[in-house]
Amino acid sequence: MDNGITRRDFLAGAAAVALASGVRPSAYPAASGPLAEFDYDAVELTGGPLKQQYDRIHAAYLALDNDRLLQVYRERAGLPAPGEPMGGWYGRDGFVPGHSLGQYISGLARIGRTTGDAACATKVAALVEGFAATLGPKDQCFAGPNAVNVWPCYILDKHLAGLMDAYQLTGVAQARDLVPRVFHGALPYIPERGRDRIGKKDPPYDETYVLPESLFLAYELTGDRALYDRAMAYLLDRDYFDPLAAGVNVLPGRHAYSHVIALSSAGKARLVLGDEKYLRAMQNAAHLLQSTQQFATGGWGPNETFIEPHKGQLYASLHTTNDHFETPCGSYAVIKLARYLLCATGDARYGDGLERVVFNGILAVKEPDADGDYPYYSTYGAAAHKVFYPKKWPCCSGTLVEGVADYVKNIYFLAPDGVVVNLYAPSRVKWTEHGTEVTLAQETDYPLRGTVALRVTSAAPIEFALRMRVPGWMAATPQLRVNGKPVHADLQQGFAIVRRRWTSGDTLTCEFPLQFRTEAIDDLHPETVALLRGPLVYVEQNPAEGEAAHASPEALRPEAGTPGAFSSPAGKSTRTYAPFYFVRDEAYTMYAQHG
Ligand SMILES: [Zn+2]
Repeated sequence: MDNGITRRDFLAGAAAVALASGVRPSAYPAASGPLAEFDYDAVELTGGPLKQQYDRIHAAYLALDNDRLLQVYRERAGLPAPGEPMGGWYGRDGFVPGHSLGQYISGLARIGRTTGDAACATKVAALVEGFAATLGPKDQCFAGPNAVNVWPCYILDKHLAGLMDAYQLTGVAQARDLVPRVFHGALPYIPERGRDRIGKKDPPYDETYVLPESLFLAYELTGDRALYDRAMAYLLDRDYFDPLAAGVNVLPGRHAYSHVIALSSAGKARLVLGDEKYLRAMQNAAHLLQSTQQFATGGWGPNETFIEPHKGQLYASLHTTNDHFETPCGSYAVIKLARYLLCATGDARYGDGLERVVFNGILAVKEPDADGDYPYYSTYGAAAHKVFYPKKWPCCSGTLVEGVADYVKNIYFLAPDGVVVNLYAPSRVKWTEHGTEVTLAQETDYPLRGTVALRVTSAAPIEFALRMRVPGWMAATPQLRVNGKPVHADLQQGFAIVRRRWTSGDTLTCEFPLQFRTEAIDDLHPETVALLRGPLVYVEQNPAEGEAAHASPEALRPEAGTPGAFSSPAGKSTRTYAPFYFVRDEAYTMYAQHG
């Protein structure tokens, strides 16, 4: 897509939603850590599998019917409510009525900001206006009985995020006014203090601790002290952040997704309060996830619950459940955590974890259909299939669009003296270095091939540092070249750094050799392994029954005609292996005995 043209179209077409003053700066201040995120409009995907999924998700959510999305809200408000009821989780009598409206608004606002697509801006404005019309004199923001009785904090979090994104990314001025109104309207229904969901088997299941991040952001936007006070009341300090900060493993038995997304509340609390205990809690949680909870994909939480480490429970789960990872929600949560940690520490390890779950988690989910059927759990057991969740419009329909919209946030980060390339994907980033606008264009067939080329364009020669993450799975230091000539790179915190005066057209190239390796499922089952190549988990496609054994990496040969796929002879037949994200409807096996 030609960003120049679409951005002009966007600005021309978006007169009705003129960008408000106070939109986000082009990057966040780096005061609280060595790196900062870019704004959504600084980065553009230009090709590859992430962009293919991004474009499909963009189209799918743009096609959602506004009347249907607003139907439960209008019906509750006693307004004419045209459109077919959504049903599923979202319906009036559903599990969480109207829950994901704010997330759909958020996702479309983020995609619109990145792509400049005026249709996203128009839809965001229409949904905010339609939602506002249902609030009534008491600013009642909940759609149905279960919304208000069971999940008010969970839903309020999504409303606030959607409204803030509509205002800050799309410029819908009305959304700014709705932030405090919706919060105060919700006050009669939300508890005064936070509570942990641990052990909760009966409603209300509500998850207060996911809210502080949004409440702090809303406080910063509006200056309304009540938002700040409620954020403080909902921080899960005593039961969760304090023990995590002290190095105590409090994960086992807890609800997986909600306690990972709660770490974003810790991330924001650290920035607002300046208390480094939140950083220690996040770092220790990330370490525990990676070292004791994680499947090869970067997923965790079989049956949505953290396991007891060193008891072989990940292995056992392969045979006892199909619900291994709540993938869109879990990926969204753990990728946000990784971005907070990357910015706070500048340590590439967090980029490694992010890469793993982007390519093997959210990128690898089943494509949603047009009527509310969505991916939810990924299955890592033998002879599995990618399936939809049995109920329509689940939680993962909200985090899927937000998580995919955030792909552009994961690729580049701003450093005080240049930029960081964290993820390898065809894309472009632009920023201003010492007053000069610089564009960096990345060309690559990663993750299927390991060659990456970064081309600099700038109006004048300009000095800055270019940092490339050296993936943690690499055995050796990569060779970097500028315009074909080897260059020296400093290695620091997992990044290779090339500092020089760049001239327009200069191209930095790097080769990351992709080799097969295996990873054990847990410490008690070293023979049960997943097959990986570079950042990708490979699965056996259409596995023969009763023969769950991986070919040895040495026996694998590239499959003619399908770049990225491999095969190996197995008796009279052939086994084929492909990246997990290639799988559509065929059966697959991820873990097998080391062959
Ligand atoms: Zn979910």
